[in-house]
Amino acid sequence: MVTDNTLAKTPLDGPSDTRNRRLRDLRISVTDRCNLRCTYCMPAEVFGPDYKFLPRSEILDYEELARLARVFAGLGVSKLRITGGEPLLRRDLPDFIRMLRTIPGIDDIALTTNGILLPKMSESLKQAGLDRVTVSLDSLNDETFGKLNGRGVGVKPVLEGIEAAQQAGLGPVKVNMVVQRGVNNQDILPMAEHFRGTDTVLRFIEFMDVGTTNGWRMDKVVPSREIKQLIDQNWALESAEPNYPGEVARRWRYKDGRGEIGFISSVTNTFCGDCTRARLSARGELYTCLFAGTGTDLRAPIREGKSDAELVELITNVWKRRDDRYSEIRNENTTNLPKAEMSYLGG
Ligand code: SAM
Ligand code: SF4
Ligand code: SF4
Repeated sequence: MVTDNTLAKTPLDGPSDTRNRRLRDLRISVTDRCNLRCTYCMPAEVFGPDYKFLPRSEILDYEELARLARVFAGLGVSKLRITGGEPLLRRDLPDFIRMLRTIPGIDDIALTTNGILLPKMSESLKQAGLDRVTVSLDSLNDETFGKLNGRGVGVKPVLEGIEAAQQAGLGPVKVNMVVQRGVNNQDILPMAEHFRGTDTVLRFIEFMDVGTTNGWRMDKVVPSREIKQLIDQNWALESAEPNYPGEVARRWRYKDGRGEIGFISSVTNTFCGDCTRARLSARGELYTCLFAGTGTDLRAPIREGKSDAELVELITNVWKRRDDRYSEIRNENTTNLPKAEMSYLGG
């Protein structure tokens, strides 16, 4: 591996893009595979038995990924999120977390998962240095959830995963619920009630037109405003300050002190102006937006032996040119633009 001391010399406040947004967060997709087939992400009709996932040789190994994470840290990234596909399917993931933990400047390492493997892995992930997890769960009804996840998996393994993560100290766990009208909007109140009064923070996510295979339609989006009103009618809410500038989720607290909920409103209340996130696909491409069609290959430069200084220059140039604000300009036509699938580029 080629290293030099450029990183030590790079100012922590790295490049700004054309809209004056710094690079602060990196989402690393460690696999494009998944044990579920959520209809809004990897519909089973598309991701069937013949679907060609990336072969091992195409995927960056942990040394390569950690080296890139170090380079990104030198450019101002302080928060990492491990994702996929289902990140817990990647072998020896705790070894990778351990490598990331040693990177100077990284002060937060989180992971997004469907939760099924958390009972098995929470302890080792915590010991390796993982800070916290976000678990995806869209319903508490086995039938609805089984249909939504495309594999008939029930709710119990996910709830056990959440519990295991809390026990291991990977909390407070955040739970992501993607709400679709006519699919699981009837589960909003039961989900809110279930997590009220616990340490788990439920976040409602508007159904997004990521990729091109999930049949997104505006009329399936349940605006956060509507969900907030529904919950507020049952349990009064008051707004809470963001935990840090640029936080994606809008926070609301139950007035009776029984915890908080969040809203990620990427369709009806966009937040591109504060978007400091870059994404690294499992194949090693840098994406500057969740809705981008293509990324910049970082794997070839790494495998050709480019130095850290050359990688810094490459990434800086990509970020300086960045102009993305897809959610702000979304309309009927943008929905049909070529876009990478979320399971591929890392949700
Ligand atoms: N497999 C892991 C999981 O499900 O948490 C990590 C990857 S998944 C792509 C990351 C997050 O993206 C999940 O919370 C999932 O619910 C969310 N997601 C996937 N497709 C979505 C869509 N079309 N709209 C909104 N959120 C979506
Ligand atoms: Fe898999 Fe997560 Fe996508 Fe569901 S949302 S198919 S669990 S990657
Ligand atoms: Fe960031 Fe792109 Fe999402 Fe806007 S649409 S918040 S630029 S990822």
